[in-house]
Amino acid sequence: MKSIIDKLVKTRDLTDEEFEQLILCEDKETIEYLAAKAREVREKIYGKDVYLRGLIEFTNYCKNDCLYCGIRRSNKNAERYRLTEEQILNCCEVGYKLGFRTFVLQGGEDAYFSDEVLIPLIKEIKEKYPDCALTLSVGEREKDSYQKLFDAGADRYLLRHETADKEHYESLHPAELSFDHRMQCLWNLKEIGFQVGCGMMIGSPYQTVKHLIKDLRFLQDFKPEMVGIGPFIPHHDTPFADRETGSVDITLKLLSIIRIMLPEVLLPATTALGTADGLGREKGILAGANVVMPNLSPTDVRGKYLLYDNKICTGDEAAECIRCMTLRVQKVGYEVVQKRGDHIRFI
Ligand code: SF4
Repeated sequence: MKSIIDKLVKTRDLTDEEFEQLILCEDKETIEYLAAKAREVREKIYGKDVYLRGLIEFTNYCKNDCLYCGIRRSNKNAERYRLTEEQILNCCEVGYKLGFRTFVLQGGEDAYFSDEVLIPLIKEIKEKYPDCALTLSVGEREKDSYQKLFDAGADRYLLRHETADKEHYESLHPAELSFDHRMQCLWNLKEIGFQVGCGMMIGSPYQTVKHLIKDLRFLQDFKPEMVGIGPFIPHHDTPFADRETGSVDITLKLLSIIRIMLPEVLLPATTALGTADGLGREKGILAGANVVMPNLSPTDVRGKYLLYDNKICTGDEAAECIRCMTLRVQKVGYEVVQKRGDHIRFI
């Protein structure tokens, strides 16, 4: 098996059969060898740096009804909220003082946040914090809307593809959501010039290893600047309430594989990983991740942005989150840094 890993390091590619063997491998020594190679690759490019992204979950209204999501429109038990412009700017102010140099505005697909509302907000954040990067994660929009948000100053865009298999996509989403449109959105974002992040859930309902290999092939083709992956975690008010949580071990192996396959990629150790395993984020960093995304949302709304059950870090103040994260990162031999943390192609 080590020869397969060496081949991956050398060629950044494997056959489907080899990918499958690696994803399913349970031999501890082999998995540690894979993680060690992933760390080697990331350290050559990013050293020991771990970049911070300040996550501002600014609305949990969503017009969509993704079957796995706790804030889907059909969930009548979700307590809805929307931050004001002032609250969002206040989150940025707090975050900037704490050392964040990237803000991520994340929300459901909320019609209130039209281009007319988002554009002045983006401009104001970029004017106030010119040394910071601004990432948007507000779902599917038309190309001209993405272009306007980019022209206003947004630097990056996160839009998980969730699965690169059309049929699988359709089993996770209602009929009105289209796989082709999701993919088109990603290509549009790239063409416009955003640093683009995609990603998938690991262990989502109906997912097979073949689907994961398809995801890897898509990543090779799309070459995103960021890849966000985390284990699927069920939410009790969704049709997938009784499904099992995705495997942390497979998530970690995939983090290592993605790091080796796309050496320059920005790879977060996600909150979902930290929820599925108390040391998940540390393990993620040791598997090749180089980004963490502490929450900057006001504490009184954190418990309402619940895409899945038992989400961690919903009670702590931002200052406490960053202190905790800095220590966790240090404990595994890495360093949280006060930098924008752009993809190497954008520096
Ligand atoms: S996954 Fe995103 S688009 Fe889908 S329902 Fe949840 S917030 Fe809305």
